[in-house]
Amino acid sequence: MTALLLNTTARLRRRADHHRRCDCDRDTLETPWKAEMCQILHARNRVEKRVLLDEFFNTHESEIARVLKRAQHISRLDYHDKDLVLSYFGDALMRMLETRWRAKSGPGTSSVFNYSRNLPTILEAETRYWIRVVS
Ligand SMILES: [Zn+2]
Repeated sequence: MTALLLNTTARLRRRADHHRRCDCDRDTLETPWKAEMCQILHARNRVEKRVLLDEFFNTHESEIARVLKRAQHISRLDYHDKDLVLSYFGDALMRMLETRWRAKSGPGTSSVFNYSRNLPTILEAETRYWIRVVS
């Protein structure tokens, strides 16, 4: 009983991390980076989006660093180009936000975003894609 109650409370808290207009599939609410991305996608304007993006980068600095390291390694990018790979990651992230995760009609998010549960993997693949396209 107590375990069940704690579990429910934890779920509610995770739901609260998402935007109040969240359309995410319930089973994906707890997946890494999802709550932050949900907030960013529902941001009212560029300023709010910028602030949320900065928060995301700060909160997940070490996880993002791991993603960048893998992308860099697989793409055989020069080991010293840390800033460059971060800018590719930023490009990949903005591209996903603007073209695939935001709803095509009206405000909100696309079903691609709502059902995805592997955002770090998606962003790693997209970062590698941008490295290939540009270099
Ligand atoms: Zn959400």
